[in-house]
Amino acid sequence: MLNKENVRLGQVRSGIRELFEYGKKRKAEIGEENVFDFSIGNPSVPPPESVREALSDLVKNSDPVALHGYTSAQGDLSVRESVADDLNRRFGAGLNADFIYMTCGASASLTITLNALLNVGDEVIVFSPFFPEYKVFCEHAGGKLVVVPSDKNFQPDLKKFSSALNARTKAVIINSPNNPSGAVYGEQTIKSLVDIIARQKQPVYLISDEPYRELVYNGQKIPFVTNYYKRSIVCYSYSKSLSLPGERIGYVAVNPAMEEADEVYAGVCGAGRALGFVCAPSLLQQLVKRCANQTSDFSVYVKNRDLLMRKLGEYGFEFVPPDGAFYLFVKSPDGCGASFAERAKSFEILLVDGAGFGCKEYVRLSYCVSEEMLERSLPAFKALAESYV
Ligand code: PLP
Repeated sequence: MLNKENVRLGQVRSGIRELFEYGKKRKAEIGEENVFDFSIGNPSVPPPESVREALSDLVKNSDPVALHGYTSAQGDLSVRESVADDLNRRFGAGLNADFIYMTCGASASLTITLNALLNVGDEVIVFSPFFPEYKVFCEHAGGKLVVVPSDKNFQPDLKKFSSALNARTKAVIINSPNNPSGAVYGEQTIKSLVDIIARQKQPVYLISDEPYRELVYNGQKIPFVTNYYKRSIVCYSYSKSLSLPGERIGYVAVNPAMEEADEVYAGVCGAGRALGFVCAPSLLQQLVKRCANQTSDFSVYVKNRDLLMRKLGEYGFEFVPPDGAFYLFVKSPDGCGASFAERAKSFEILLVDGAGFGCKEYVRLSYCVSEEMLERSLPAFKALAESYV
């Protein structure tokens, strides 16, 4: 008999992927220009020119045997040093190359971290709305995902958080800037969260999943978790900051300040080994060494965000202004995200039902799209709004 759970996961795509595939089919049927695809968080801006130049220079001018060969399992030492140096310079993060592990993007960072930490039955707390794959990653590592609601501004509900923690809690995942709400947690929120976590008798790890770290509007600063809590682990990816989601590169950074850092890092290396990652792509590691401190040009996202908030607000849709990432989480006019997403489809607008994110009254709109498509979609949004009157 096959592994039933894996067969199920392979047969039923995530809501995001399902809609993304539907969009491809629909575009082939009625023409790309007639579908308003807000389904997936695929950056619409290219990687910075310097990244493309660095890639080409690496391919043309490096020793090809070394460049395309295996690296150390945890990543090339000089790459890990450059990642640690960059984070220490920007955030005073106290990191060290010996506790950095290069991965194939944030998904790998999360699966590796969860597999390193969890024993069967351990609980992992997340705040809703949350990235739906957390449930898959956590359960596959033997854990149980415990969902704590956020408040009406999508900030953690600290009272409910306090009561959700118990002797089985092994980790808490935070994601700021948040997919799908765009919420950003300020310093006071992080301080309050870690004060509550630190009251537990057993070690509880704070996993900060931060692929949108650099994508913040209004100049808000993202508190770097290693500065606030010893048992913290950062899961990062260059998918969004450098527009490289198809290339698969990121890292896990274990805070060296925790007493058991050696053991946790060994668990990370062991999980990476057991999951068969071998090493992160060597070419991309070398790229990170050269470009870790850069970002794509985010100005399109800023424009899209402003235009969407203005127009959707005008049409009567409700949402909390996002402070980061590139998503708008919109309340369904009839209180049901699934029916809202279905009705939007009849106007050729693709929005993801919020149920998978733990908020069934909402839909997610990814505005990492071209300005031109966004402008073209506005009459359809207006008609969608009017269909509710
Ligand atoms: N975590 C969050 C919150 C995300 O939004 C995503 C991707 O959209 C990931 C993790 C996975 O990122 P990656 O593509 O680097 O695996």
